[in-house]
Amino acid sequence: MILTRFAIISIGVLLMSSRVQLKLDTPGEIRFDQYLRYQDIQDYLDRLNRIYKGFVVVENFGLSVENRNLTSIKISYGENPKKPLIFIDAGIHAREWIGPAQALYVIHRLVENPVESLLVRNVDWLIVPLVNPDGYEYSHTVDRLWRKNRTKGKICDGVDLNRNFDFQWLQIGASRSECSNNYAGTRPFSEPESSALSKLIAEKAERIKMYLSFHAAAQCILYPWGYTTDLPDNGEELHELGQNLTDAIYKVNSTQYKVGSSANILYTDSGTSRDWAYAVANIKLAYTIEIKGFADSLFNRRRGGRFDIPPEDILSVVSEMFEGIKMLHSYVEPKHITSENHYDVLMKKMRRIFFFTT
Ligand SMILES: [Zn+2]
Repeated sequence: MILTRFAIISIGVLLMSSRVQLKLDTPGEIRFDQYLRYQDIQDYLDRLNRIYKGFVVVENFGLSVENRNLTSIKISYGENPKKPLIFIDAGIHAREWIGPAQALYVIHRLVENPVESLLVRNVDWLIVPLVNPDGYEYSHTVDRLWRKNRTKGKICDGVDLNRNFDFQWLQIGASRSECSNNYAGTRPFSEPESSALSKLIAEKAERIKMYLSFHAAAQCILYPWGYTTDLPDNGEELHELGQNLTDAIYKVNSTQYKVGSSANILYTDSGTSRDWAYAVANIKLAYTIEIKGFADSLFNRRRGGRFDIPPEDILSVVSEMFEGIKMLHSYVEPKHITSENHYDVLMKKMRRIFFFTT
């Protein structure tokens, strides 16, 4: 009897490990019942770039420490200097696998689901689904709980990219010790990943009206600041919009997210991409989205603890958050739209020119 139970457990473990090893059937395929690896993500973006020419532009904007591509995807019906842009990044922290899955889900819905085309009519999207590819791969192959990038250190490797941005660097909630999970690096933007991401944002900063950075797994919506409990100038707007976002998420499966400034409701931090985007790139709607985690307990321990949302639950987590993203879009669009960049007004003008209609 004991032997039989042992055999069943062994087969289960074997099946689980073969599932982890499972390769995607077709290169470029997207799915939300397993976590995609770096190459799978690149293949998917390449496929979209081939199929949706003119609608999406996939570009490499830098290289990681281990020479992997840092890749962005722009989704737009036509750029216009006055058109608002929503910027999203994910995977700054390696072990937070649900972040890249969430970014890929947003990309998938915006590009491949015609129902969502309204979300792209008057607003452009620029999305980086994997900021830290080296750390992400390392968390798949060696250490499931790896958080930093893979810069070689004297004693310990890796820099926390989300403590490496050039705003209030190393002030609080960050470490100068190489072996710390919050190691801020030798200087601001010492790391190729954070430096390249900041340049990409800075290039389009005037058009970026909202900055979202996907993390896990504190289940809360964080706005600036991290380095002080004081609130930014538009703290009220950030809080109210954050609450509307949590309401939209709650409506789907009754999942309750908290809202507040980082230092007030989670912890102090400095040198983060969110505070930098707000203060230096001047993006006044800047949020860290801490996606929900796995309810870890002594009875249901998983390898990655709270970061290990089971693959079969990915879709429900990312699709409820997508309802929140749609709500955020519905706030940005009317706030920043003018007759010069309004899709319907432009179409009317075109019709007038080509068909002499009024
Ligand atoms: Zn994180």
